[in-house]
Order: sequence, then structure tokens, then C-alpha cells
Amino acid sequence: MQNEFDLIARYFDWSIQPDRHQVVTVGDDAAVLEMPIGKQLVVTVDTLIESVHFPSETDPYSIAVKALAVNISDLAAMAAEPAWFTLALSLPENNPDFLEDFSRGLQDTAARYGISLVGGDTTRGPLTISIQAMGWVPEGAAILRSGARAGDDIYVTGELGAAALGLLGLGSNRGYPADDACLMRLNRPEARLEVGLALRSVVTAMIDCSDGFVADLAHLAAASQLAATVARECLPLNTAVENAIREDQSLWKLPLAGGDDYELIFTAASNSRGAIEQIATETSCRITPVGKMDAGSGVIIYDEGRQPVDVGASGYSHF
Ligand code: ADP
Ligand code: MG
Repeated sequence: MQNEFDLIARYFDWSIQPDRHQVVTVGDDAAVLEMPIGKQLVVTVDTLIESVHFPSETDPYSIAVKALAVNISDLAAMAAEPAWFTLALSLPENNPDFLEDFSRGLQDTAARYGISLVGGDTTRGPLTISIQAMGWVPEGAAILRSGARAGDDIYVTGELGAAALGLLGLGSNRGYPADDACLMRLNRPEARLEVGLALRSVVTAMIDCSDGFVADLAHLAAASQLAATVARECLPLNTAVENAIREDQSLWKLPLAGGDDYELIFTAASNSRGAIEQIATETSCRITPVGKMDAGSGVIIYDEGRQPVDVGASGYSHF
């Protein structure tokens, strides 16, 4: 039976990426990291708890992908380049099958986004994964929620509502058929890193969409002290979500209030439209203009008949 230190050495002490300015990583009391000159450190942490952030039946590979991708998504929303992460892992038992797959999922995801695991903490307890991710931006170049200006266009990457449909498909209470693509969006979200970095020179404000489109756009609007006006028919939906809403109109809120999309919502001056279309092409990422920032406050969604839609309280809140 391996002890805690064997476990760490076996599953979480990987070869380092030499270009990441690491002096000391896993194995000492703390990591020693060197910042490149002229860059600022961008730091974020997100915790995933079994049954709250992922269904209990989620496979360990997917849990690792999600735990890291949601943090990369926060770096992407700041237009920060990933550098290092730490992992605080609480496990109910020392299960080699779980750890093997979890470690593989984490390594694959770390390689994909170019981020290095530099330390962590391992404890026994309910399955909880807490990852702190660190990245860099050139001094003063981080994109904040607060930078939108009146008259800016609002855009969103990718498509909305797929992860929420995937969750419904798990079917505990609604019995919708599982859509594999939507389930993948829920279990193995992709961080919009490439497009987030490419947008750094063009956008005025940005946020990643984790709690739901309206809830997260409301954060951006509040931070920018403006109102966000969105035309519902402009929201980008994939065919599965479109079909689901057509078949069951009660699902109309999925793209507006469903969480876990990890798309980027951002604002840009109207003369940036050409540059944004070019970034969409270069990064092969769908980017859709959905509305405008104006004087005022809150998020206003208009339906096809230009009537305001009441989305109600939306977005996930733990308390
Ligand atoms: P300490 O008791 O000094 O805090 P730990 O015993 O918690 O150290 O950890 C030993 C080393 O292993 C440290 O370098 C720590 O960063 C690393 N570590 C522990 N758990 C993990 C993990 N889950 N992933 C990556 N590194 C870890
Ligand atoms: Mg110590």
C-alpha cells in the first residue's frame, strides 16, 4: 500500500516544462518560481466538489480535465498566458484506478494548455479538487470586467446551453435523452484560451461564462457600470439545444441561465468588428455579436418581438 508521499511521487510529480521559469517544483516545502521581466502574475483558484460541480458518476479523467480547464478559462478571460498550477486534492480513499486516470487527465490537459504542476497538497476526505492556476500578462495588459464603454458591442464565443442540456440528459429528474456531445461539454469543457489571448489587443472587457450567460454578463455590466442589451435571437446555439427548445419550449432558458459553458463574453468598440471576425477565422472559433452596452444598469434581453424577457433569478449561487 503506497503512502501519501509515494502517491504524490507516482501521480503528481511530472517532468517539468523547462520554459516555465521554475526553480523548484513538487517535492520541497514550496515551489520557487521566477517571473519573466515585464510580466504581471495573474492568479485564480477554483474548487470542484463531487455532486456539486460534477455528478458522482463522472469518470476520473473528465474530473481532472474539468478541474484544470475551468481555471484555464479564468486565465483566458483575463487574456493571461498559463504558466503554473497547484493542486489541493482531497480523496476518500487511495484508489490506484482513480488516481491513474485522474493523473492522466490532468497531464493531458496541462500539456494541451502549456501549464506546469508545481505543487499541491494531498489529504483524505470527501472528493474535492482545488486548483490554483497562475499565468502572465505583459504589464497592464490584463483584460478586466470593468473596461466596457457605452456603445461597445457584446460578443460571445462558441455556443450556449450545451453543457446545461448535457446535465439534463443525465436525466435524474427530467428524463431527457443523453446527447453525447453536450455531455462532453459538461464533463470536459474546453477553455477558450487561444481566442482569449488573441482578443487581448481588441477587447475592452471580458468574462468567462461559468454560472450562466445572463448572470456572468451581469457581472461585466455591473463592473463597467453600464447596461447590457441583448437580442435573444442572436444567441449562438448548437443544433442539439435548438432542437431541445423546439421540442420543449419550457427549456428556453437553457442558453440564458444554464451554467458550465466556459465560453468568453466580451465587449469591443464597434470599429473592432473586422478585427474580431479575423480572430474568429484564425482561431477557428465561432464568435457572435449579441448586443450592445449602453448607459444604465443590468442585463436586458429582448425577444424576437422586441419585448423584454424576464429571465428571473439566474446563475448558480452556492449560498
Ligand atoms: P508539507 O508537509 O511541507 O506542506 P506536503 O507533504 O504537503 O508538504 O507535500 C510534499 C510535496 O509534494 C510538496 O512539494 C507539495 O507541493 C507536493 N504535493 C503534495 N500534494 C500534491 C499534489 N496533489 N499535487 C502536486 N504536488 C503535490
Ligand atoms: Mg513542509
